[in-house]
Amino acid sequence: MYQNGNCPQDRFDVVVVGGGAAGLLAALAVADSGATVVLLEKNSEVGGKTVWSAGLVTAGGTVVQAERRVEDSVDAHRREILAHAERTGVLGIPGVSEKLGLLIDNVADAVDRLAACGVRFGGPHPEEMHSVARGHQFVPGARAAIAALAQKTAEAGVRIRRDTPVDELITGPTGSILGVRAGGREIRANAVILSAGDFSAAGPGRPAPQFAEHAYKSWATGDGQHLAAEAGGDLVGVDSMVFAALITVDEPLFFAHPHVLAAGAIVVDGTGRRIANETVTFGHGYAERTPHDLYLVVGGDQLAGVATSADDGPVGRDGWLRTGKSHLGNFGGVGYAYVDDLLDAGHAVRGESLDHLAATLGMDAATLRREAAEIAKAVGAEDRLGRSWSTDPFANGPFLAVGPMRGAVALGAGGIRCDERMRALDSSGEPIDGLYVAGDCADSAGAGFITGGHGYGLGWAFASGLIAGRDAAASTGASAGRPAEAANAG
Ligand SMILES: Cc1cc2nc3c(=O)[nH]c(=O)nc-3n(C[C@H](O)[C@H](O)[C@H](O)COP(=O)(O)OP(=O)(O)OC[C@H]3O[C@@H](n4cnc5c(N)ncnc54)[C@H](O)[C@@H]3O)c2cc1C
Repeated sequence: MYQNGNCPQDRFDVVVVGGGAAGLLAALAVADSGATVVLLEKNSEVGGKTVWSAGLVTAGGTVVQAERRVEDSVDAHRREILAHAERTGVLGIPGVSEKLGLLIDNVADAVDRLAACGVRFGGPHPEEMHSVARGHQFVPGARAAIAALAQKTAEAGVRIRRDTPVDELITGPTGSILGVRAGGREIRANAVILSAGDFSAAGPGRPAPQFAEHAYKSWATGDGQHLAAEAGGDLVGVDSMVFAALITVDEPLFFAHPHVLAAGAIVVDGTGRRIANETVTFGHGYAERTPHDLYLVVGGDQLAGVATSADDGPVGRDGWLRTGKSHLGNFGGVGYAYVDDLLDAGHAVRGESLDHLAATLGMDAATLRREAAEIAKAVGAEDRLGRSWSTDPFANGPFLAVGPMRGAVALGAGGIRCDERMRALDSSGEPIDGLYVAGDCADSAGAGFITGGHGYGLGWAFASGLIAGRDAAASTGASAGRPAEAANAG
């Protein structure tokens, strides 16, 4: 399609493809080393899925912890999580120990770099699985964190080109990566970092998502995986690992945790009708069955077991952990949501009766009442959707409806095989010269999710971005400390 000489050219030391968490920090790390770098982003704004996340980053041994008198270290974090992974049997899964170690060893450094960029953190919040508080929560949210990071990245000399999807990698005769082609333009570089996110909206010819319903973001089409595969990169887990969730349509993001459904909450659509066995389908299985928005409906007995901010200690959102009560799910800016958080954000309405709830939401009250009556009748048995009930969760009010929400495939967790320097590997395990990967686009061996902990998706993206950026810059011979402006001149 392109012949040398008939398309416009640029030259940089490093090209970064995709400007989410991984790409922005990778580009900043390259600029910190004094190498020239351009970041190409296909959307009109940088931030990717990162700006739509709940913004919780788990890290141990950070400056933020030290400032807030939380004693911790990278070693303590690593020891604790590897021991946890061993106990739960996931450490034996190929790649988990290496990738988990890589993540934990670098995420504190990444969080410190973000803090130095002016990214603000709440907490750190105590977390399950951790003996000390490691949940670094973006405040007021992920969008603000990315804005601060993008600003510092540009100030450091990174050229950021928006609306510039990368279509192709330029490959030399021996398979080395020589640059990229984007929108009719050829950009030559010594190294390319693919940080183009996940594949949950993959289209034809790309790695396929596991479920048929709507992806959370339509642009998450696995471009990085696709580009790497064309250049001989090995893809791992791209057809099997997905994360589907019930997510609010509006910001700030809230996504419900499975324990909320297991404890008796139901999901109805805008007409008041239940659609599926919520404990089986969880986030997937809705979009193809109803065109309407969804609402999570919680009964009074369950609501009584949800913590309130009065239960929290001085450190962070930990009332649910301290008291053994529950939270409702992840919530942007706060960490874990209680009832008042959702009411205050306009994500929820409360009603003394189901009729009251239905009237507030413009739902058909008779349909909602019929659903509740069917559940009451099914106690000790299964309802029409195959869900078993041991008690009637709607026997007592008040009732809460959270929404509008939708069920979406939020992430595809597989990616491009890589080594500890974030170099892309081919099917024989050899690095592809000049090609690096980072974030959701890179194979993390599912290390973050597999432990069952939170905050490791962003943790992996930032840690791997930092490693890829530093190594890619070093591979170009850039020496740390070279002024970024001089490096970018010309
Ligand atoms: C609802 C939800 C909540 C989450 N909450 C949390 C949380 O609280 N904590 C946590 O740790 N993780 C969370 N995660 C996971 C976390 O958001 C991701 O793991 C992380 O944001 C991935 O960052 P990334 O840089 O790899 O990808 P992204 O942020 O998606 O960035 C990829 C970028 O690449 C661009 N791009 C794609 N193709 C091209 C192309 N061809 N050319 C140029 N650019 C391209 C995209 O437009 C995008 O800007 C959540 C995820 C979801 C969906």
